[in-house]
Amino acid sequence: MNSPSAILIDRFGRKHDYLRISLTERCNLRCFYCMPEEGIALRPREDFMRTEEILSLAGTFVEMGVRKIRPTGGEPLIRKDAAEVITGLGRLPIELAITTNGVLADRFIDVFRQAGLRSVNVSLDSLRPQRMAAISRRDYFDRIMANIMLMKDSGFHVKVNMVVMRGTNDDEVTDFIEWTRHETLHVRFIEFMPFDGNRWDWDKGVGLDEMLLRTVERFGATGFERLTDSPNDTARNFRLKGGKGTFAIISSVTNPFCDTCNRIRLTADGKLKNCLFSNSETDLLTALRRGEDIRPLIRASVLDKKAVRAGMNSFEELSDPALHGVNRSMVSIGG
Ligand code: SF4
Repeated sequence: MNSPSAILIDRFGRKHDYLRISLTERCNLRCFYCMPEEGIALRPREDFMRTEEILSLAGTFVEMGVRKIRPTGGEPLIRKDAAEVITGLGRLPIELAITTNGVLADRFIDVFRQAGLRSVNVSLDSLRPQRMAAISRRDYFDRIMANIMLMKDSGFHVKVNMVVMRGTNDDEVTDFIEWTRHETLHVRFIEFMPFDGNRWDWDKGVGLDEMLLRTVERFGATGFERLTDSPNDTARNFRLKGGKGTFAIISSVTNPFCDTCNRIRLTADGKLKNCLFSNSETDLLTALRRGEDIRPLIRASVLDKKAVRAGMNSFEELSDPALHGVNRSMVSIGG
């Protein structure tokens, strides 16, 4: 049992026990809401965490009360040592999950199993191959879909993340929901969020209320039911009546859920972000390489965390490019 001082609690009483680690800024897709059109500048390898550094940092966070770790990217599975990192994380006393674009997932089924990883989030923004190719600027629809089914049939808990964008794929929201009627998949609709280089504009967004309205229009008010969300859940969960799977809405823009936030993020270059939207970062990697004690840095970052969206409390503040524009691109945060 961790002593109280070892648990990462912020000024608002939120306990931070969930660490998302970006393993790389690189990706084999080019989704336009994540990867800036011009790509991201390639940086020298030594700027990024080495295998043993990821595992060392993760170990320290676990000592400080972290109980869940999720590798993310870019695309985590393109890292040459991805299997080694996942296996190493699997040795920690944690719940291990992963977010991937699914392209290479079939090659990691055994690695996931041996590491005790049970839950996989796969990004899929359209059920139409050509549209998915247009959004991701790569043609991997068939492979991603095949791997989603493979992981589902292999017993993994598979969540499918879709970023809903007006005029791009929002007409498929209820198709994705219909998909959960017959498949044990857990679709999550993510409101379009502002990050560096994604030309965000809420005119391209579709909010929680509108998505629910469309769901009622298609399935009727009694055609689906509200489920109980788990503590710290980022999503509002639902199920079609008699459906095998579930669907959920993650509404960071229109209905933020920061009051129960338990998440902190480590970027691929070893910086700690206390919030997805924060642009103040703490350099843990340099301190680690200097042999310094990084725990005070971690605690200070958590204590510095703002109540809501890194201080962008209102929709107007979040919509202000002068405020949200100084953050990283999504590909270099990892969601
Ligand atoms: S916006 Fe920041 S504080 Fe709010 S839920 Fe996301 S990470 Fe947590």
